Amino acid sequence: MPYQPTRRALLGAGALAPLATAAPPAQAALKTSARIVIAGSGLGGIAVANRLARLLDGAKITIVDRKEEHNYQPGYTLVATGVWPVDKVRDRNADYQPAGVEWVKDMVAGFDPAANTVITASGTRIPYDFLVVAIGVQLDYAQIEGMDVDAIGSDKAPGLTSVYPSPQAAQATWAAMQAFTAKGGNAVMTLPATPLKCAGAPLKMSFMLRDRLLKAGTLDRSKIHFQSALGNVFGVKVVNDNVLERWKTLGIDVEFSRKLAAIDIGARRATFITPEGDKQEMPYDFIHVVPPMRAPDAVKGSELAWKDGPFAAGGWLEVDKSTLQHRRYPNVFGIGDINGTPRGKTAATVKKSAPIVAHNLVQVIAGRQADEAFDGYTSCPLITREGSAMLIEFDYEGRLTPSLPFIEPLNDSFFAWLMKYRMLKPAYMAVLKGRV
Ligand SMILES: Cc1cc2nc3c(=O)[nH]c(=O)nc-3n(C[C@H](O)[C@H](O)[C@H](O)COP(=O)(O)OP(=O)(O)OC[C@H]3O[C@@H](n4cnc5c(N)ncnc54)[C@H](O)[C@@H]3O)c2cc1C
Repeated sequence: MPYQPTRRALLGAGALAPLATAAPPAQAALKTSARIVIAGSGLGGIAVANRLARLLDGAKITIVDRKEEHNYQPGYTLVATGVWPVDKVRDRNADYQPAGVEWVKDMVAGFDPAANTVITASGTRIPYDFLVVAIGVQLDYAQIEGMDVDAIGSDKAPGLTSVYPSPQAAQATWAAMQAFTAKGGNAVMTLPATPLKCAGAPLKMSFMLRDRLLKAGTLDRSKIHFQSALGNVFGVKVVNDNVLERWKTLGIDVEFSRKLAAIDIGARRATFITPEGDKQEMPYDFIHVVPPMRAPDAVKGSELAWKDGPFAAGGWLEVDKSTLQHRRYPNVFGIGDINGTPRGKTAATVKKSAPIVAHNLVQVIAGRQADEAFDGYTSCPLITREGSAMLIEFDYEGRLTPSLPFIEPLNDSFFAWLMKYRMLKPAYMAVLKGRV
């Protein structure tokens, strides 16, 4: 019988602490007239805005982001595999921004940190005393010749799927998965070589596709090929080895160092490039495309990006990995996926780091040192089939950091599934509201 934890065990456990509704202990707000700009109103931007609104008295906080819909992105894999309806991942940003904050519905086109100014797409210059960069990742589908995100789910691109871009794409992915599993055939799953938000999502999609084929009775007529551009399928070795062992048993084939270079969405043919530069063509009935990811142009093309080292090619934000303060502009902080840090592009990362960023920024406003350190906490409930998942948690060093004593990270369990399916969304909402 699956383990059924008690409510006390749940609320006492670190990873689920967000479910406890009590607000953090009240602390006297710092009086300041500082102008703070927050670029990006996704999870990280709004979480920090809500915290700053409580920690500061008199600050002028401005959020810049054109996006009005708030999407619960961790739910996309559930929508794309038929577990959730699409409405569960749609919300309104306006409902979560703190009172008194100015919302500029525009995109940041550039940062001029020497002049402490943000420049928007419509040409407005917004000066700041302090800046929080929270603009997430750019999904770089353009690197794949022939790829057309808008065609996902359309008749001109049968079998073309991708869970990443939007709720609509996730929904269309589920429709294509249903059509495919009804007949079976040849499935190709891709993985690029860049840092990814939720690096577990491509693996979840593969596990769930196999589960759906099994349930549809077409598994014996089908083959799943996982094509990784890397030498692994997951950056934490024990997790990588565990997944590969499972896939061997489940009959999911893996090839390494295969980069998706082009796709003919009409002819259903994908072209991969080997390290030697050879082309490998693969016909498919179903393909799941994971795009290369990089920093959005506004950061990549600015002085705020790393200029050398492992994060320079992607143009990621140059922050100190412990304090999340910019290494050259101390009045700038980064939160969430935009940060050029090892690992850490998950909502769980924001949960652990938003309080640290807010605290460190308040310290700097008060003329003190940023003194709280983030350990790189990253977490990913890795679905292995409907009703089972592994709860993987790790730090910058790739060490497993399980926060629930009754969960063995490398074993899949019904409880870890339940977390993904039922408990993580309320936890995410609590992070968004700056409550935990
Ligand atoms: C398919 C999928 C599955 C996932 N599964 C999980 C999971 O199981 N567990 C987990 O913890 N995490 C998961 N995540 C990751 C999680 O959703 C992200 O890590 C989290 O949303 C990061 O928050 P963020 O604020 O950095 O970025 P986002 O929430 O993406 O927000 C970025 C914001 O920046 C805005 N923006 C972009 N460019 C500009 C600009 N130039 N100017 C102004 N605004 C701009 C965007 O409009 C957006 O509102 C998943 C993500 C995906 C896509």
